[in-house]
Amino acid sequence: MTKLVLTYRMSHNWNVNSFLKEYQRLLQRAIDEISENTTWREKKVTHRYSVGSRNYHYYETTRLIPYFPQSNEFKRELRNKLLKDWPFAKHYIDSAIKTAYSILKSWRGNYLKGKRKRAKPVVKRKFVRVKTTLMKVEGSRIRITVKPREEYLELDFSKEWFYERVKDWKVGELIIRENDVLLTFSKEVEFSGRIKIGIDSNLTSLDIFHPEKGWIRVDLSELHRIAETYDRIIDGLKSVQRKAPKRIGVLLKKYWTRRRNRIEDYLNKLAVQLSREFPDAVFVFEDLNKFKMLQNGSRKFNRKLSRATWKKIVGKLSYRVPVEFVNPAYTSSTCPVCGSWLESRNGRVVCHNCGFEADRQFVGSFNVFVRGLGVALSGAELDDLLPNEPRGELNVMKPKSVVRVDLNGGRFTHVPP
Ligand SMILES: [Zn+2]
Repeated sequence: MTKLVLTYRMSHNWNVNSFLKEYQRLLQRAIDEISENTTWREKKVTHRYSVGSRNYHYYETTRLIPYFPQSNEFKRELRNKLLKDWPFAKHYIDSAIKTAYSILKSWRGNYLKGKRKRAKPVVKRKFVRVKTTLMKVEGSRIRITVKPREEYLELDFSKEWFYERVKDWKVGELIIRENDVLLTFSKEVEFSGRIKIGIDSNLTSLDIFHPEKGWIRVDLSELHRIAETYDRIIDGLKSVQRKAPKRIGVLLKKYWTRRRNRIEDYLNKLAVQLSREFPDAVFVFEDLNKFKMLQNGSRKFNRKLSRATWKKIVGKLSYRVPVEFVNPAYTSSTCPVCGSWLESRNGRVVCHNCGFEADRQFVGSFNVFVRGLGVALSGAELDDLLPNEPRGELNVMKPKSVVRVDLNGGRFTHVPP
């Protein structure tokens, strides 16, 4: 069983300004308290720099590493402190403490990488995370407790565009923002032993969305290097063909054969290594026969592999793993959160309706994956979208891993980040 989580946005017209402001203050206080009780310990770190080939000089520096208070006693005291002038339901304190720790954890990661200074993080966005303990769900109606027996917020998502897609799903945590609310729905899906993965083709990569492993990119730049190398030789020969038509004709034939063989060899290895990397998966592809509207030369097609190469990859894979096809229309231009049209610029996509922003290739593979599930074109996966991001931001800017075809071995090699 795999738990899938879809996130949808719905606007509201609640008057929640003071609630959001109070929660922002609460969260900041939690961060401040944890920061004040953070222990900084010195640690020796070894660095090196290169002097000539494979020779390094080493040197040590001392760094200060932060350790957050983790004892139950500290957490209990913190809870009591925060409760003192908190006018809303008590459960929000627990959600704020949890969120504060996760904000600090991501700040710590950035600090250790040298991307942040020692100063503690500041909460700039207004939002409230609502745990399921603060919600009462009846069908499509949700009642959120703000103050017990006094103040509630109510919503009904039965009129929303995504209703049909989630009506038998479980309602999860939600995030209230100034003008909208982000709803999450989850469902345990049985893949009958085979997980589906979505694959999107691009000029220099295959992008894969795997529901457990996330976004994985297969770097295809080597394939292009091979093609370009031979194209250059062939163009050179063609330009002088008139001088010795017969002799150059022989050479041209030789290089065409070599080009074809090298590419064939690459594609065979790609198919083998893909099937070894995901031996239990159903590979979901866009159905190229439905590509009529997108002729070669159209903008969408230019960013993709040539249709012939793509068909070859799919053909070779279909001998090794189960393959399914979905309608390719708008897979990289439909917003996974609100269903609107996405504007594409410089490899990224932006939704003007809900503010969603991500890498275009991630969205392509994700939408192919969701279409493969038959859930229709929408939604998100737990690790890659909202729920784990403390500030309600989407974290889908980088692939979880990048791999490359190993021309001498049997498995992909990982490309270091
Ligand atoms: Zn959107």
